[in-house]
Amino acid sequence: MRELAGRRDLIGVNTATLGHREPLEVVARRVAAAGFGWITPWRHEVDEDHPERAAAALRAAGLRAGGYCRTVYLSGADAAQRRAAVEANRRALEAAAVLGAPFLVAVVGGLPEGATDLAGCRAQVLEGLAALQPTAQATGVRLALEPLHPVYATDRSVLNTVAQAVDWCEQLDPGAQGWVGIAVDAYHAWWDPALETSIARAGRRIVALHVCDWLRQTRDPLQDRGMMGDGVIDLRRLRYCVEAAGFDGPVEVEIFSRLDWWQREPDGVLRTCRERLWSVC
Ligand code: ZN
Repeated sequence: MRELAGRRDLIGVNTATLGHREPLEVVARRVAAAGFGWITPWRHEVDEDHPERAAAALRAAGLRAGGYCRTVYLSGADAAQRRAAVEANRRALEAAAVLGAPFLVAVVGGLPEGATDLAGCRAQVLEGLAALQPTAQATGVRLALEPLHPVYATDRSVLNTVAQAVDWCEQLDPGAQGWVGIAVDAYHAWWDPALETSIARAGRRIVALHVCDWLRQTRDPLQDRGMMGDGVIDLRRLRYCVEAAGFDGPVEVEIFSRLDWWQREPDGVLRTCRERLWSVC
């Protein structure tokens, strides 16, 4: 297993961790000063008419884009909505390329309002992802399929386990050309009894490892993620499995915490993130 301590090149921060309270260039300076080498911004922080400005801000801070968050939902209620989603996601892939991000995180969308055909919804999402293949290949930006905890199946994602993500990769990219990959997020995946076998199956398709912790007394399934070490996830074991499968990218901290960490002073949050990455992950 890789030693993270002192290795700026192996650790990154998702900007959501600081609660989107400041402009990207300010966040980038803080992240770099705290000893991280990578940053993953969100679309609403980037002017996609001029993504070169955000790219310049990251470069000026001495950071690389770890990824780009994220797709709009591909599970629209009708064909026109689904086409519009594909179009918006093409634009995001193009912006990601300008940022130098190796992948766009794909959060695929939940079951549309009024719908009950879960299998049909999943098939439509796969169609939407397939429609993005030419742009992913032309830009060189992969789509990182991120399975979300099943509690989000109605409102955020009908892709819910790493095993399902591997199945989708095999369907979408049977020749393993590499235009789709998988983002493993500890918060979404830790409970899954098949996690370790699925990670081994995923192998080098894993392009991202997101870490935080699952608090025993979770107050909000969306925005009460814990700091690494404050919850129940064996993060070192997870990193061991992902690296044993061939993952060699940076470990990314992604903490949505409206009730706690977003209320705290950003430099202190980043210091704690770095220390916990070293001591817990
Ligand atoms: Zn994530």
